[in-house]
Amino acid sequence: MAEPSATPRREGPLRRLWRRGAVVLVAAAVLAILGIAGLVSVTGALILLGSTALAMALLPLEAPPEDMVADRGSATREPVPRGTRAVAASLPDPCFILGRDGQVRFANDRAIASFGITEGEFLLFRLRQPELLAAFDKVVKGGGAQQVRFEERVPTERSFSAWFAALDDPAAPESILLVLDDLTSFQATERMRVDFVANASHELRTPLASLAGFVETLQGPARHDPVAQARFLGIMHEQATRMSRLIDDLLSLSRVELRAHLRPRGRADLIAVLRHVVDTMTPLAADLGVAIEADIPAGEAIVMGDRDELIQVFDNLVENACKYGQSGGRVVIRMAVPERRGPCSVSVIDFGPGIPEAHLPRLTERFYRVDDDLSRKHRGTGLGLAIVKHIVSRHRARLAIESRPGAGAEFTVHFPEADYVRAPAVEKSEQVQTPAVS
Ligand code: ADP
Repeated sequence: MAEPSATPRREGPLRRLWRRGAVVLVAAAVLAILGIAGLVSVTGALILLGSTALAMALLPLEAPPEDMVADRGSATREPVPRGTRAVAASLPDPCFILGRDGQVRFANDRAIASFGITEGEFLLFRLRQPELLAAFDKVVKGGGAQQVRFEERVPTERSFSAWFAALDDPAAPESILLVLDDLTSFQATERMRVDFVANASHELRTPLASLAGFVETLQGPARHDPVAQARFLGIMHEQATRMSRLIDDLLSLSRVELRAHLRPRGRADLIAVLRHVVDTMTPLAADLGVAIEADIPAGEAIVMGDRDELIQVFDNLVENACKYGQSGGRVVIRMAVPERRGPCSVSVIDFGPGIPEAHLPRLTERFYRVDDDLSRKHRGTGLGLAIVKHIVSRHRARLAIESRPGAGAEFTVHFPEADYVRAPAVEKSEQVQTPAVS
């Protein structure tokens, strides 16, 4: 059964005056008892009583804001006009229409979803943000539209910009519009951008400082030492190559980021892409003593995609598998195609040390490395997987990373759809082996 309403009724001015009178009477009685007990002189009691009565008389008759908050059912409940509701409902951001007392008279779906605050509740009581309260007060007093920023810590950290504006008469508004803009993801992107610039300049500064140091040494102490000169020039060449790789990768990354929201319009044959990758990666694999095994069907698997970008994806994955999985001695490129049309996937599998699970979620972040020294030893930039992730998502594909620590890692790209055309003659999987050179 429904509980009887516990909502307190709003007091009229007469009732409040009567309550103040009662307060003065109680004060008088207390002072009389104190006077009789000899604890307060008669003059002192009279002065105290007089000032209590004066204070009660001077206090405004309007209840304080806390009263309003507790006094839920009492707010003026003029229905919000249908047109105003319709506009507020169609806004893409959280939007509330509040009464002068802060009671929610209308909340659009986004507002309810974001804050869980519905009609009839007192918004400022729920959000408890001093900045919001101050801005709301100004608008209620006819101070014009107000914009403030505020942060929420619980349940998650979020930051918002709040825009208050008077509806109806701006000088004495009956309703106040509140529109909220969620700045959380914008701020996260901004933080990432700042981190990225800091990381990129740090990555470039290190080889640059080393180059400058060697130039000084060549001009000074090593001026007449041909052996040292040859050694230092070798290191300088390495550092210059590293800087140029870094710049190439940064340019690639910014190119794919610029086009991240545009799905490629062209068509590419994944099988041809993989064969190309096997060919270009064979020398590197041979240098590292790794055999590449291609488990790729014959025929054509056509996807919506950019051939060069897809080559870059599998170049990066196969290069990583050879470098970091070197100890496993082999890398498998396996492709699963649909009968004719449907999802298809390509896995790059190595049998090296694998990747501890804790690192997996962050692996595609820019400059994220599991083992800094190993990455540098292999002339890594820390950008390879970030590039892969962006290209893959531009292709509406998905990258899955699995690792068996101690047994290897498996990077799989799942494409949503491919048209597979079986080759007429060769139907068996073909194995391309590169000789392992130790
Ligand atoms: P890098 O240029 O350092 O290779 P990537 O973005 O390509 O940068 O890779 C990020 C990090 O992920 C690497 O530094 C390495 O620590 C780890 N990693 C990538 N692939 C593998 C793999 N197959 N096995 C183990 N670790 C890997």
